[in-house]
Amino acid sequence: MTASSGGAVKAQPWNDLSARPYVEIERITKSFGDFKAVDDVSLKVYKGEIFCLLGASGCGKTTLLRMLGGFETPTSGRVLIDGEDMSGVPPYERPVNMMFQSYALFPHMSVEQNVAFGLKQDRLPKHEIQERVATMLDLVKMSDYAKRKPHQLSGGQRQRVALARSLVKRPKLLLLDEPLGALDKKLREHTQFELISLQDKLGVTFIVVTHDQEEAMTLASRIGVMNHGEIVQAGTPSEIYEFPSSRFVADFVGSVNMFEGKLIEDEPDYVRIRSPEIDAPIYVSHGISAPPGAVVWAALRPEKIFMSVAAPEGGADNVVRGTVQDIAYLGDLSIYLVKLPTGKVVRVTQPNTSRHAEAIGWDQQVYLSWDASSPVVVTR
Ligand code: ATP
Repeated sequence: MTASSGGAVKAQPWNDLSARPYVEIERITKSFGDFKAVDDVSLKVYKGEIFCLLGASGCGKTTLLRMLGGFETPTSGRVLIDGEDMSGVPPYERPVNMMFQSYALFPHMSVEQNVAFGLKQDRLPKHEIQERVATMLDLVKMSDYAKRKPHQLSGGQRQRVALARSLVKRPKLLLLDEPLGALDKKLREHTQFELISLQDKLGVTFIVVTHDQEEAMTLASRIGVMNHGEIVQAGTPSEIYEFPSSRFVADFVGSVNMFEGKLIEDEPDYVRIRSPEIDAPIYVSHGISAPPGAVVWAALRPEKIFMSVAAPEGGADNVVRGTVQDIAYLGDLSIYLVKLPTGKVVRVTQPNTSRHAEAIGWDQQVYLSWDASSPVVVTR
């Protein structure tokens, strides 16, 4: 399975009611005193997935991962791995390997000895140990550092060694806590793609904790977005991005313009929303389930807004005027902050497809328009 291909092309196990999950989390809660770090979480993860737990610092990701690894005991609920109840099963008897955030390496051992350690303990033949260690070090681009000790490495290099060490034993389930946090952007991207191809080759199931939404989008077959100890939405990266179920998810994953308003027309195949933040009603070409007059939010991604100096052709729906207040040129795209007459500032991104495009400048009057299928309407 190619992780970022999401659920679009082939039938995916999470859509198949008869598919057997590899990891099953049943109503798990972890309390520390009165505080619920993980609150009634249920989740199924299937063989060969790269499942990313995504959320802000302190939302309970690590605690959930530690319960899967057996390093934390649930207050209630249970975990099944490959159909087997893990209650009371210690970490070393689970078919799981965990790479911790602190990824402590053995300080007195060289890089290759660190990676080889687990294989030696398992008494694998010497040539196989050498071969596997070499492959792994090559994978994480650490072959040139094989003889160094951990204190002679940078933080990012240590992290790559820890990653190699956790993968070399080819566990069936690998739990990774912020595995790429210390890597620079290029190396991080490279390693993300390598992880995906490794997953394809070895069929390991990964559960990855990250607070980096871009990383989750690149890596994941599915993402579970966490907030205050709960999984608030689980889905493929495109489901999470294009069909967020709440303001929290829309806002947490990517940038979004949020317009608060009321439903003024509510038909099965379209709705209109009147928002004090925008002069014209927002027309949306899909229905929602909410009572008439309900307070709703139209979430509109910056890249789904067209910006033009001339009035766009077509109907008057979903067209507003505004003034460019700020521009950030990022090379591949530019971000424009456009102020509407109501005072609302709308974020618009435009790809820089031409090197000589006619620039839209500061204080310029522009039209913003968008397709009626672009806004997502959420009710919470
Ligand atoms: P980060 O991204 O910062 O690592 P996280 O989402 O992984 O955050 P957790 O480490 O799971 O968060 O912690 C969730 C909450 O539980 C935090 O508020 C944390 O302070 C609390 N917590 C974690 N472990 C304990 C503990 N042993 N005793 C008391 N509270 C704890």
